[in-house]
Amino acid sequence: MELKSNKKTFSYSDWLTKLKSMVDAKQINLLTMADLKDCDKISKNIPNVVIRHDLDMQTGNIFKVNYDIDTARKLLNILYAEKALGLVSTTYIQRYFVIPDNDFSNQFVFALKNFESDGFEIGYHINDMCEAELQLKGNPINDIIMCGEILYHDHITELQKVFNIRTASAHGYGKRYVEPNNLTIEHQLKHDDEVSGFKNIVISLINKGISVAYHTDSFMFTDYNTTFDPITMLDNLKANVCGTVCIFLFHPQLYDITS
Ligand SMILES: [Zn+2]
Repeated sequence: MELKSNKKTFSYSDWLTKLKSMVDAKQINLLTMADLKDCDKISKNIPNVVIRHDLDMQTGNIFKVNYDIDTARKLLNILYAEKALGLVSTTYIQRYFVIPDNDFSNQFVFALKNFESDGFEIGYHINDMCEAELQLKGNPINDIIMCGEILYHDHITELQKVFNIRTASAHGYGKRYVEPNNLTIEHQLKHDDEVSGFKNIVISLINKGISVAYHTDSFMFTDYNTTFDPITMLDNLKANVCGTVCIFLFHPQLYDITS
């Protein structure tokens, strides 16, 4: 099975194979995001790598809330490929993916729970402030913030009944970089909370003197001419300072099985 980017020539399978060889050669230490909450798990001798996947609804529309089976299937293909190599990753899911409103969703949740028991991490991909904005369009900003916080509380409680949610990340806030957005909620989740916000984990590492690099394929949604070369990024890690943390974010909808 080969997983190729459907936007670029980059092969996710090739990247995984390279990562696997580096893990086996003890050139890198592979962790999940929740592992980063515990400094004892972070190697001081070799670079640490986290694979992150964000399971979004349909590309380019943060308000689209219908279930996207195609993207969910692509995620499973990626996770099966990782598992086959003995690797683990962290997937941030939006809550819609665990609402059993179709035949596929129950199987999907069952599969994700199996991955979780194999050491993969399932985290929460926050979209509550976008939902609040949609529900309260035209209302005072403080009402929208309060509604977003209530939705977050309800949704994280709902998800924690299914998964061991330990970290959360905000879903893209579209063209709006002013608050409130989904980051407004993520930033409230401290690194030592039961559910930690992505950025606050990174900040706590930096405060401890650990350098963090973050690579993402996000621009592939908009700018196809920009190069994203995660294989070379892995090569560069070999020469990297020991004990650093490198996080790679891949969006499953950008990757297809080609054989
Ligand atoms: Zn997202």
